[in-house]
Amino acid sequence: MEIKYVSTTCPYCGTGCGFNLVVRDGKVFDVAHWQRAPVNGGKLCPKGRYAHEFINSPDRLTKPLIKKDGKFVEATWDEAYDLIAEKFRSYKPDEIACLSSARTSNEENYLMQKFARVALKTPHVDHCARLCHASTVAGLAAVFGSGAMTNSIKDIADSKCVFVLGSNTFEQHPLIARSIIRARESGAKVIVADPRNTPTAKQADLYMPFVSGTDVAILNGLMQEIIKNGWEDREFIAQRTKDFEKLKEVVMKDIYSLENVSKTSGIPVESLRTAAEWIAQADVAALIYSMGITQHTVGVDNVKSTANLMMLTGNLGKPGSGVNPLRGQNNVQGACDMGALPNVYSGYQKVTDEATRKKMMEMWGVDDIAEGRIGYTVTEMVNLLADKPGELKAMYVMGENPMLSDPDLHHVEEGLRNLEFLVVQDIFMTETAELADVVLPAACYAEKDGTQTNTERRVQRWKKAQDPPGEAKSDWQIICELGSRLGYEKQFAFESPEAVFEEVAAVTPSYHGISYARLDPDGLHWPCPTEEHPGTPILHREKFAMPDGLGVFSPIEWKPPAEVPDAEYPYVLTTGRTLWQWHTGTMTRRSWSLEKEAPIGWIEINSEDAKELGIKDDEVVRASTRRGSVEIPARVTPEIIRGVMFIPFHYKEHPANRLTHNALDPIAKIPEFKACAVKVEKIAEV
Ligand code: SF4
Repeated sequence: MEIKYVSTTCPYCGTGCGFNLVVRDGKVFDVAHWQRAPVNGGKLCPKGRYAHEFINSPDRLTKPLIKKDGKFVEATWDEAYDLIAEKFRSYKPDEIACLSSARTSNEENYLMQKFARVALKTPHVDHCARLCHASTVAGLAAVFGSGAMTNSIKDIADSKCVFVLGSNTFEQHPLIARSIIRARESGAKVIVADPRNTPTAKQADLYMPFVSGTDVAILNGLMQEIIKNGWEDREFIAQRTKDFEKLKEVVMKDIYSLENVSKTSGIPVESLRTAAEWIAQADVAALIYSMGITQHTVGVDNVKSTANLMMLTGNLGKPGSGVNPLRGQNNVQGACDMGALPNVYSGYQKVTDEATRKKMMEMWGVDDIAEGRIGYTVTEMVNLLADKPGELKAMYVMGENPMLSDPDLHHVEEGLRNLEFLVVQDIFMTETAELADVVLPAACYAEKDGTQTNTERRVQRWKKAQDPPGEAKSDWQIICELGSRLGYEKQFAFESPEAVFEEVAAVTPSYHGISYARLDPDGLHWPCPTEEHPGTPILHREKFAMPDGLGVFSPIEWKPPAEVPDAEYPYVLTTGRTLWQWHTGTMTRRSWSLEKEAPIGWIEINSEDAKELGIKDDEVVRASTRRGSVEIPARVTPEIIRGVMFIPFHYKEHPANRLTHNALDPIAKIPEFKACAVKVEKIAEV
């Protein structure tokens, strides 16, 4: 019996914890702590601890499948590739779209966008960052010139005030929460604003429950209070920023007085006043946010407002400070960095810049690629499919499951069923794969080499611990073989993920200095422009990444969500996750240690609201919005603010996204998962 330990990076959240996969006779059978792992120092949350359990599930996809007469039949790789190549060749570039995946490696995301742009010549490539942090990328880039977490995870421990807004860090990024605990142990004040009294809120020195969708009003109110008291950092504002007067004009309006913000948000005036004082008076303060901020029709406005607050108080460019968006999936930062987005190539180089497009053609050795215009986002693809059938005809989906993850599932299903040809590449038969014409079996994170980039921009290694099951192949290999079938042998002639990464480093300025040899054991934070550069844990130390080096204040007016409660749908519905499950549950629901802790969905209802509705704890109720209904057990609790209901979105049996609204942020095109109007009723006894 041979036992070996392979150090790698967790496939779940964007924290990027390292652990050892324990391999016996060529099969992974456990996870063991890796004490010197750079982000987590050997500690793991339950998802990481049990990240081996789904790997050898008996229902892994092991052979290509082709649908014939409505049923999947096993096929050879050659048959599958021939069919896909023939079909893809038959469509015009504008008729095909590709979905890349934040669960796959940097190399695979890089190859997917290259495949779309080179082999299919389509500009339509995107991935699920659209559903979580597209507003971060757009919002922070507009203010700072770079759309990423400004500081490192370790840095948070040096903060003297941590303001957590729209992030349930203790459940969703538990190993980042350790930095908050460390800061608190060193005397930092912790403020948490959330509609739910989450495990994160319970750790706070000041908890501010608020009505979902009032973030800008709260942030403007805090800024008004800071300016009224003269607590702003005048030196930082004068030397590092511009447009402060424009910001002032908006935030000093009477509607953003603490009294009025209290009425809008439900937060007591005294709490708002204390929060403003703690943030402004701390030597150094950090703001942490996640999807509570981004998943709104005003997601970009929300993000810009967080940046306004931290610039106003001079909390950027130094340890313990910053605007710190916590990215959701393991490699959502990397998938964006790699250009799996419709508006940029890798390193956020704009597709609309003709000089950049020419450079990419030269680097890729082709004389034509997708036109230099912005393609469709995921959300626009789905809307187009449903609302204008025939415009998009084919899709290639890698490792995504829009049939459970996207808003308004009836609409999504209608759209996907309108496709003429759908290819899904995944490790399991997902709800989306069920609708496919061809399903390609992929290797999981433990079965391939590669890199991923965590929320703090740290690029780290994945290392292969076992072979994929049956005939499954790594995503990078599948994309390369398909690229070759379509006539681009030279462009996709990679022997290994490392060879792909060498090309990534060559074409991506912020990754120029990164190589596999430099990544062991601690990884490197981008930007890392040269081979000698040590990486950049803290951004914007001397200047912002703008042409003039200045951060830009953005005056933002508060706007309510696209759909607000009314007589028919009198409550606000918000959605999110639980500690024990991950996204659409393809991996965690096959991990028995996790599944047994949270096997079914629920709707959280405030105790007073439940009393008025005559609903008891555990009773199955009907939750309905203008999009559909779900019958779901009630969890009656005082831990959610009155008027707001919460459903986790992991469960196909109780799909929260049957209810959510696909209204989009006009810039980031992110849907409003965090606020729509809902009604909840007792189900009549029969
Ligand atoms: Fe994995 Fe995130 Fe848990 Fe770390 S905190 S073990 S990265 S799920």
